[in-house]
Amino acid sequence: MIRAVIHLLLHVSVPAAVARTFFAQRFRLAWLVMMATMLVDLDHLLANPVYDPDRCSIGFHPLHQYPIMIVYVALAAWPKTRLIGVGLVIHMLLDGFDCLWMQYERT
Ligand SMILES: [Zn+2]
Repeated sequence: MIRAVIHLLLHVSVPAAVARTFFAQRFRLAWLVMMATMLVDLDHLLANPVYDPDRCSIGFHPLHQYPIMIVYVALAAWPKTRLIGVGLVIHMLLDGFDCLWMQYERT
């Protein structure tokens, strides 16, 4: 439970911190765009159950596969899609961190 709450808080606070640090001139827009990249979790709707706190998203859901993360990095590299890409990369890193934490809890 505590892991899920921290995970959710990180999904809000890390993009805010990155927006504040690297996109200070347009903080609000940067944060909103990065928050909107949470829509990538709509791929959970294809899973059954839709939400499972003990399931690692990375490598399981279609938009959380390693090959598609190359696209997210490419989006981050291109200035016009940078905010979307950075948001998606942060999302994948946080989900990956959650998976590591989950593994640690099981050992
Ligand atoms: Zn996710």
